[in-house]
Amino acid sequence: RDPASSNQDFYFINQSNKDKIRDEFELAQRLQLALKNDDFEIYFQPQVNSVDQSILGAEALLRWFTPDGQISPGEFLTVAEKYNLMNKLDEYVVNKVFEHIHRAKTRRIQLPRIAINISDQLIPLNVIEALMAKHNIQPDDFELEITEKLIAAHDDETNLFLQAFKDRGIHTSIDDFGTGYSSLARLRHLKVNKLKIDKSFIDHIKSSLQDREILLSIIGIGKALKLTVLAEGVETPCQWEFLQRSGCDLIQGFLFSKPVDLPTLLSLLAAGPVHNALETE
Ligand code: C2E
Ligand code: MG
Ligand code: MG
Ligand code: MG
Repeated sequence: RDPASSNQDFYFINQSNKDKIRDEFELAQRLQLALKNDDFEIYFQPQVNSVDQSILGAEALLRWFTPDGQISPGEFLTVAEKYNLMNKLDEYVVNKVFEHIHRAKTRRIQLPRIAINISDQLIPLNVIEALMAKHNIQPDDFELEITEKLIAAHDDETNLFLQAFKDRGIHTSIDDFGTGYSSLARLRHLKVNKLKIDKSFIDHIKSSLQDREILLSIIGIGKALKLTVLAEGVETPCQWEFLQRSGCDLIQGFLFSKPVDLPTLLSLLAAGPVHNALETE
């Protein structure tokens, strides 16, 4: 079924747009097949204590390696959203992450808390609970990341969702914080545990006094609300140093580790605090 055929404006779409629609349609079909065949991998990016660099968590990030090369989340998530595949994808990811946690437990390995990104479709608590039961997962084993955009858009619905998870003892965090125009008033009533400051605020720490001031206020707000504050996309020792001095609790970024496969995460955990360029500068 060509989605464009139902569109009355179809004849006015130029050739390159038509190609794009066809490409997206094809990608959506491949995506559906890949979900069915379990063709995705989960990678894990450590979240480390900004003071002693111990690994306190890891974010699960979806990876799709195909015979024609890797397709990035940026590419396939856009298509998944357009073709209504996000619910399926969320459930797929949660199930797969829980499988990993369960398999580690049977080997007597306790993974750090695994953060799972969920889409703006908000996977219902009963779906999560069924998957928790299936894989014998405890609330402490994982947390859910929702985007700040969602909070700005659907206040009441999101709050009910977050409250339900809180009541069940499941942690939640706000991803890409600072990019989504959520008001302070809303933030104050939100039942979340963690703020993840968006990478765009981290990028210019060295050159921009203004960005440093903004970061200080975001960290201050997080502290006032008794939330754990994490900085995403930390790439340089200078950024890390500033964040550590400013009281940011957790750091996630290429400086410490890129997203890695599970065996690599396990060896990082076994090696203790991550050693990196910090010591050499
Ligand atoms: P996000 O949740 O904000 O994840 C962080 C992204 O930043 C990841 O990109 C990660 O690889 C990248 N990153 C981390 N540290 C650094 C750094 O120091 N430098 C740079 N340049 N990049 C860094 P990725 O894996 O390509 O994912 C992109 C986005 O796709 C994610 O942003 C998230 O919104 C979405 N996503 C990824 N996996 C899933 C998933 O399983 N489910 C859902 N719903 N969304 C996902
Ligand atoms: Mg995330
Ligand atoms: Mg993020
Ligand atoms: Mg981001």
